[in-house]
Formats: sequence, structure tokens, C-alpha cells
Amino acid sequence: MGRSGKVAYFITFLGIVIVLLSFGGLITFGGEDTLGSGHRFLSSAPATGEEVPVPSRSDGKYRIIIDPGHGGKDPGASSVSGREEKEFTLALAQKVVDLLRQDSRFEPYLTRTSDEFIELEDRSKVASDLHADALVSLHGNTYEGPENVSGTETYYYAEGDGSRELAEDIHQHLIEALDFRDRGVRQEDWKVLRTSEVPAVLAEIGFLTNAENESFLYSEAGQDKAAQAIVEALEEYFRK
Ligand SMILES: [Zn+2]
Repeated sequence: MGRSGKVAYFITFLGIVIVLLSFGGLITFGGEDTLGSGHRFLSSAPATGEEVPVPSRSDGKYRIIIDPGHGGKDPGASSVSGREEKEFTLALAQKVVDLLRQDSRFEPYLTRTSDEFIELEDRSKVASDLHADALVSLHGNTYEGPENVSGTETYYYAEGDGSRELAEDIHQHLIEALDFRDRGVRQEDWKVLRTSEVPAVLAEIGFLTNAENESFLYSEAGQDKAAQAIVEALEEYFRK
């Protein structure tokens, strides 16, 4: 083997070592695909208090945090047919984010992308850490009394930061799209709203304890309508 042969042999050997190491996870090429994708969020980071690198914002884009209520050990409400609220909120949130990504003005993020538990204050912290323009928390309502309660309620907490206006826009679009009973826009100090440093809204889309609301909200068509309504409301809010 001549000198060039030895060099070629060494380079090949080096290549094989690198391939083996990278398969073994000892070498990673590039960063983790988390914040950059605009879809997945590094959900473990806020919970552990680690520094989350703030991704650079594309010019003029509105950064929207969509928060699927509940998750993991916290299932949320139980629906009339025994399904869990956390399943509904995640499915709807993913549809909202998928639609927002189709609009170049928005840069959407989810507080969770799977069935995992996240503290309420960590959900609003995600919005603060990312210097978001809005936080929208999605929920399904529940009523255990004898009356047959149904309809949409939309909540805000902070005054003067646009939260109320965003709640009104989201509520109006949901009522028009879903044709559920209008239970109004309400001010309430829900923790996820109270701890938010950015305009924040919590939408109780419908009552999972009401058979009609429930079957609509767990249907693909119903979730598509609700997601479309929320996106149209955000488009209207940020046009003003
Ligand atoms: Zn809820």
C-alpha cells in the first residue's frame, strides 16, 4: 500500500467510525428540531426551568402560542360518552396550528404536542419566553347538574393589553361557525390567563357533557370548523 493508498484507507476508516458513532447517538449533526419547526415545541424545557433559546422572529410575523388544555395525568373533563377533554384539546390545537402555518403572517407554537402533563404557569411561561403576540388556551366545558347545559364561553383576564378584544373576536367567530349557544365573553382569573404576560384567551369551545356539543366537537368536521373560526379570529384581530 503506497502513501496515497494509506491516506484513502485512513479516510474510509474515519468515515466508518463517524457513521457508527452517529448511529450510536454519540455525534449529533445540527441542533434539535424543536423551536425552529414552528410546530413542535421543546415542552420539557419550560417545565425544568432550563433556558429556552428564543428563536429569531421572521419580520412582521405574529407569534401565536396554542395551548391544548390538560394532558398526561390531568385528563380534564370526561365527555358524555366517556372520552377525555385532553384528547379533544390536542386534536383541535393541532388543527389550529396547521391552519396558522398556512398563513405566512403567523408563526405558531404548541405548548404540548403529545399527551403530557404541563403546569398551568409553564404554559403561560412558554408564551413569555417566546415573546409571543398571543396565547390561546383551548378547552371543552363540563356541567354535572340536572339541566342540559351547552354552548361556548370565552375567557380573558388582563385589561388593556388586547386580551378582551382577542376574546371577543374568537368568541364571535366560534359562535358564528359552530352555532352553539352563546354563553358570552367573561373575565375570570384562570391561572393560565392570570400568569400570562402576553394577551391571553381561554376558549371553552363547547360542553363535552352535552351530547350534541360532544359529538360535534369530537368529529373531524366539527374540529375543522372550530379551528377555522379561531384562525379567522386571529387574522381579524391582527388586522386591526
Ligand atoms: Zn379544561
